[in-house]
Amino acid sequence: MNMELSRRRFMVGASAGLAGTTLGALGFGELEQAYAIAIRPFKLTNTTETRNTCTYCAVGCGIIMYSHGDLKKGEKSEIFHIEGDADHPTNRGTLCPKGAALLDMVHAETRLKYPMVRKPGSDKFERVSWEVALDRIARLMKDDRDKNFIAKNSDGVTVNRWLSTGFLAASATTNETAWATYKVVRSAGMLAFDNQARV
Ligand code: SF4
Repeated sequence: MNMELSRRRFMVGASAGLAGTTLGALGFGELEQAYAIAIRPFKLTNTTETRNTCTYCAVGCGIIMYSHGDLKKGEKSEIFHIEGDADHPTNRGTLCPKGAALLDMVHAETRLKYPMVRKPGSDKFERVSWEVALDRIARLMKDDRDKNFIAKNSDGVTVNRWLSTGFLAASATTNETAWATYKVVRSAGMLAFDNQARV
């Protein structure tokens, strides 16, 4: 991809040079300078490239996120451009309209970034730490499973079912995460198991 961009920049520069030189030969030296200044710098220069997977569906298209700011230097990172990863075997650089609009999702004011809880009787959600959220989820799951677990059906056959809780996982995870999630959910006895891609 860098080769492609370099070629594009080269072509822009060469065209500008040709036009400028021609103008210069005709006595338009200032015009030549103004023309060179007017060439827009490539917006992805000096940025951090981070490879990732589109979050929306199970196609799992590869993306490259471009950001300013070096986290290693304690700077705040700001993603300002996202495009398809031309080296990714799934999408070869293409994105559907949803994937092409990922930048809007990243910066959406309504985007959920941390655990929230709405306490009984409250009309609003409040932010809680991951520690609190995970402890609470584990406690509620354990209590519910203890109360509703079905070890055997009415014919006495072992079924080990937990039907009162479901699990919504993510489709855009790694194979390893998906494998671990599946094992945890199924070994707990849950049957209601899905993700946003409905696969
Ligand atoms: S870019 Fe479109 S097709 Fe690809 S993973 Fe995202 S939503 Fe799915």
